Amino acid sequence: MERTLVLFKPDAVQRGLVGKILSRFEEKGLKIVGLKMRVFPEELLRTHYEVHKQRPFFEGLVKFMGSSPVVALALEGKDAITTTRTLMGETNCAKSAPGTIRGDFGMSFSHNLVHGSDGPDTAKSELALWFADPAEVCEWTPQQTTWVYDVEEEL
Ligand code: UDP
Ligand code: MG
Repeated sequence: MERTLVLFKPDAVQRGLVGKILSRFEEKGLKIVGLKMRVFPEELLRTHYEVHKQRPFFEGLVKFMGSSPVVALALEGKDAITTTRTLMGETNCAKSAPGTIRGDFGMSFSHNLVHGSDGPDTAKSELALWFADPAEVCEWTPQQTTWVYDVEEEL
């Protein structure tokens, strides 16, 4: 089982898409283990996107991410990292395939609705950054687990 960080960016919240986007992940069978909403501090946003700090879009991205509330999620599931990225679609919404979140709901490269960790190391560090307090992460077993997975073979 893997865990990954997902963010619903300010455009998703402002456009009233929180419910629809959350449903994509829930209906897929990913388990929500953390969920919170706020305008996050600039320092956290800078750290989160540190890998892009030399890129020309960095300052605009940090400003955008701090311009309105963001929903932060910790999701758990088998191959949760790649599964989440597949559901999201590619970075540029305009080029993203129909059926994906970005492909179905967006038009923009920068205002692209969602973030998902891109690998096991990033997932680990991003979860430590956004869900530093263990009290904000719920350990629980959904009753549907044995219907989502073939537990004998897959877990
Ligand atoms: N971004 C942007 N312009 C670019 C590339 C990226 O505004 O030319 C923004 C966009 O919001 C993207 C984020 O920076 O989601 C991080 O970029 P990355 O390449 O990591 O894409 P992601 O992993 O989010 O698909
Ligand atoms: Mg990325």
